[in-house]
Amino acid sequence: MSTDIETRAFEAEIRQLLNILAHSLYTEREIFLRELISNASDALNRIQFEMLTDRDVLDPNAELAIRLSVDEDAGTLTVSDTGIGMTRDELVENLGVIAHSGVQGFLKRVKESGGGPGAGDIIGQFGVGFYSAFMVADEVTVVSRSYKPDAPAHRWTSSGGDTFTIAPAEKNTRGTEVTLKLKDDAKEFLQEWKLREVVRKHSDYVAYPVYIKRETTGEDDTVTVEDDRLNQQTALWRQPANELTDEDYDNFYRQLTLDFEPPLLRIHMSADAPLQFYAVLFVPAAAERNIFSARREPGLKLYARKVLIQEYCTDLLPEYLNFVHGVVDSEDLPLNVSRESFQANRQIARLKNTLTHKILSELKQLATDDPEKYAKVWAAFGRHLKQGVATAPEDKDRIVPLLRFHSSKSEGKQPDVSLATYAGRLAKGQDEIYYVLGDDPASVSHSPHLDPFRQRGIEVLYFTDPLDSFMATSLQSYEGYKLRNIDDAGLDIGDMGEPGEETQAETREALPEKAFDKLKRRFVDVLGERVLEVRESRVLTGSAARLVAPENAPDRNMQRVFRFLEREYEIPKRIMEINRRHPLIHNLAAQITSAPDAPVINQVIEQLYESALLVDGLHPDPASMVTRIQALMEAATATALQTGAGEAGE
Ligand code: ADP
Ligand code: MG
Repeated sequence: MSTDIETRAFEAEIRQLLNILAHSLYTEREIFLRELISNASDALNRIQFEMLTDRDVLDPNAELAIRLSVDEDAGTLTVSDTGIGMTRDELVENLGVIAHSGVQGFLKRVKESGGGPGAGDIIGQFGVGFYSAFMVADEVTVVSRSYKPDAPAHRWTSSGGDTFTIAPAEKNTRGTEVTLKLKDDAKEFLQEWKLREVVRKHSDYVAYPVYIKRETTGEDDTVTVEDDRLNQQTALWRQPANELTDEDYDNFYRQLTLDFEPPLLRIHMSADAPLQFYAVLFVPAAAERNIFSARREPGLKLYARKVLIQEYCTDLLPEYLNFVHGVVDSEDLPLNVSRESFQANRQIARLKNTLTHKILSELKQLATDDPEKYAKVWAAFGRHLKQGVATAPEDKDRIVPLLRFHSSKSEGKQPDVSLATYAGRLAKGQDEIYYVLGDDPASVSHSPHLDPFRQRGIEVLYFTDPLDSFMATSLQSYEGYKLRNIDDAGLDIGDMGEPGEETQAETREALPEKAFDKLKRRFVDVLGERVLEVRESRVLTGSAARLVAPENAPDRNMQRVFRFLEREYEIPKRIMEINRRHPLIHNLAAQITSAPDAPVINQVIEQLYESALLVDGLHPDPASMVTRIQALMEAATATALQTGAGEAGE
C-alpha cells in the first residue's frame, strides 16, 4: 500500500498561510478546536440533508455525533465525525489544492493587526479554518470515508511546509477523523478539563453532541470506555422562554455572532398556526460587524425540524431588516426545495411577514418602554428603517412610528422627534408638516428658511440624511398632514402660530426702492445664470438672504439623493431672496453707492449665494469657499483697523 502514497504541493497561498500559522500566531490558539468542530458539524449537516432524499448512504443508522479522543502517549488529539466524509479527490481539493479567495483576506488582516490579539480568532471567517490546526500541531492527519457506498477511505497527511501526502487507508465507517500531533507547547490540549472548557466556550450550541471518550480502569483492571457529552447542544429556540435566563440568551448570542457586546433587542417567538415555527432574533449593538464577527453575511440561520437548511437565509426578512441576526426553525417547511421555488414558496412568504411584523412591533414597544435604548437602535439602524419606508411600501405604516428626527425643537443630541410627537404639537392653524433639508443638524439650525418659523414658534423637522430625502418622497404625508419642504417659494405661513417678538433686523427700515433695485441688479450681474431671479423676501428676519425653489421645481429631495450617490450633480437653479431690512444688505447698498468697484461687493454677493447653498445641503464643494472667506476677512480686518484708527484719533 505504501507505494500508493502520492505527494502533492499545497497551493501557493496556502503555503504562505501555513507558514504564518505555524510560526507567528500564538494568541487564541484554542480556536482551532472550534474550527474543527464546526467543520465536523457542517459535515453532519450535509449528511443529514443528503439522507432526506438519498437512501443509498453508507452507515445510514450511525449516530450523528462528534467525538474527541486523546492519546497521551502518542501526544495526539483526534476529532472525528460521522458526517458526509470526503473522497480522495475531495480531500485533495478541499485541503490543499483549491485556491481560497479567503487566504489573501486573512493574511492581510493578520498583517494589519501585527499578528496580535484577534488575528487567529477570525480565521474561520475566511473559509480556511481547517488550517488553524497547524497553530497547535506539528503534523495533521485526516482519514476520511465518503458517504458514497463504493468510495474507499483515504489518508491525508501534512507537517505544514509545502506539501501533503495522500494515500489509501483503512476505515470502514462513514466520516472523518482529524488527528493532531500536538506541538510540545500545546500539550495542554491533551487534558480533558481544557477540552471541556474550550468546547463550552466556543461550541456549546453545536447542534450535534460533542463527546469525549473517557477510559476508566476498574479495580480488576478492566477498562471501560464511555462517552461523555461536553456541549449542551440544546436548541435554545425550542425551549420555553420562561425557562431561559438573560445569560442563556447572551451566551447563545455570543456563540452565534461572536459579538461580545450584548444585543439591544432580543425576540423569542414561536407560533403554531398557520405555520409552526420557533425563532430567536437579535438586534446587535452596532451596525459595524466587528472583526471577530462569526456572521460573514447578512441572513438568518434557517432550520427545518432542527436540520440546518441555510446558514445565511436572506429570504426570511426584507432587505432593510438585514441587520437582524438569529435563528428560525420551522416544522412545516419543505426541506429539499430549490432556491427559486424557495423564494416563491407561500409558507416562506407568510413566515417572512410574521417575522417582519414581530420585529417592527417589538421595536415600537422598545421605543415606548426604553427610549434610551431605542435611541441606540435608531443611531445604528435608523437608516435601514428609512430605507424600508422607501423600498417596502407594504411595511410603511409599521415603520413610520419608528422614525426619529432632529427638529427645531429637539432637546438632545439624539434625533428624538417622532412624527407623532410633531403632530401632537402643531402650532395654531398649522395643517402641514414642515421640514428643511441640509447636511447636518448644526448647520441646518442656521438655515434662513427657519426665520419665520422660529419667530412664530412652528416646529420644523431637520432632514439631514440623504436617506431622509429618499424617504420623504415615498412618505408624502403623515396622518393626513402633507410633508412640506420650507424652501418652497410659494409657502405662506400667514398667521399660523403665535407672532413672536420683532427681531433687531425687522426693526430696521427697509432699504428704499431705488437703492434696492440697484442692489438687485448687482446680484443679477454677479450671479447671472446661476439664479432664476433675485427678489425681495417677505419672510426673512434674522438672515440676509436665502435660496428658494420655484414652485414647479423638480424634486429637491431626489437632487440631494443624487448628490449623495455622487451621480452627475448639477447645482439646481433657485430664486435668491434678499432681506431688505438686514444690516448686511444695507451696508452692501451703501458700498454700491459710494464705491461701486470695491471688490468686496462681488465677494459678499458670491458668498451669500454659496452660504445659502451650503445650509441647504446643495453645495458640491464647500472647501472651495475658503479662499474667498480669507479675502473677506482681510477686508473686514482692514476696515476695523481704519475705524479703530479713527476712534483713537478722536
Ligand atoms: P470552510 O469550513 O469555511 O469551508 P475549512 O478550511 O474549515 O473552510 O474547510 C475546508 C473544506 O474542507 C470544507 O469546506 C469541507 O469541504 C472540507 N472539510 C473540512 N473538514 C471536514 C470534515 N470533518 N468532513 C468533511 N469535510 C470537511
Ligand atoms: Mg471550516
